[in-house]
Amino acid sequence: MISMIEFTMLMKVAVLCCVGLMSSVVAATDNASPWLSDISILASDAMEGRETGSKGAQLSREYLVKRYQEIGLTPLSTLSDFTHPFDARKDTDIISGINLVGFLAANVSNAGNHQSPRYIVVSAHYDHIGRSGRRIFNGADDNASGVAAMLYMASRSEQQSRQCHQVFLASDAEEHGLLGARAFVKADLLDKADIFVNLNLDMLSQPGGRREVLVSGNTSHPAFNQLISGIELASTMPMIATDERRRVGRYPGKADRRKVSDHAAFAEQGIPFLFLGVGRHNYYHTPRDTLSRVNKPFYAETVNVAWLYLQKLDALCGNRAD
Ligand SMILES: [Zn+2]
Repeated sequence: MISMIEFTMLMKVAVLCCVGLMSSVVAATDNASPWLSDISILASDAMEGRETGSKGAQLSREYLVKRYQEIGLTPLSTLSDFTHPFDARKDTDIISGINLVGFLAANVSNAGNHQSPRYIVVSAHYDHIGRSGRRIFNGADDNASGVAAMLYMASRSEQQSRQCHQVFLASDAEEHGLLGARAFVKADLLDKADIFVNLNLDMLSQPGGRREVLVSGNTSHPAFNQLISGIELASTMPMIATDERRRVGRYPGKADRRKVSDHAAFAEQGIPFLFLGVGRHNYYHTPRDTLSRVNKPFYAETVNVAWLYLQKLDALCGNRAD
């Protein structure tokens, strides 16, 4: 005999097991999941770890430009094509990189709102740390996972109503110290006052044993804590807001997560941001960060969580409630 509480718990476990089993079957067999084909190409050995300035980085860009075109993104009016080349100083060196920037114009306006639409900049760095001899640092999680998620979000968004303009920034030279994102912000390709938020994606596919997403930037706008709670409820994915915490994640570094990826370039200009990622894990910056270690059911969840963020941010951006 078991009590009703025990019975209810057993049923919940059974349901969770089935859901887990089903999602792994779906992920293993559903080759149509576009984020899986994008991540597998970007993390392939042919891309040689996508180091800034390398042949692998160039091949990655050729692939991404093709995907931007397929999705229906257009270049920014301030650029002649999708590329944004830049030179940036790193210590005594000059690093030359190339960001890729795609644009989707707002296509609806909120009733009574006659102001011109603001911008949401979704970012994910496509560069990684290359190779060392025969060892390739594929960077499947860091950050082919974020770029593939961004492409999926752009393709979904292109087919829906948008109250704000959306910019998709595949940044270069993040691994050298956020150089591409800083160059993008400094170049004034958009009027900074018109950027409502940066949604930055960096490492979404390897949970390190924990089903949770770390969210930085929760204090960068008064409406964000509520927005994060709403997405946690809607998705059932635990969201760990990190701005007030000094140590987070399974392998917490001492780093302030508000500064660890490209969103910092926007934060430095006073632009609100949200940063989604899983935090450091055992495979971080090792040759073992490969496609085979991507947790496909978990990654499918984080891709959809990221998409929820973009939708909610567009609604918030459009109503000009801030
Ligand atoms: Zn990264």
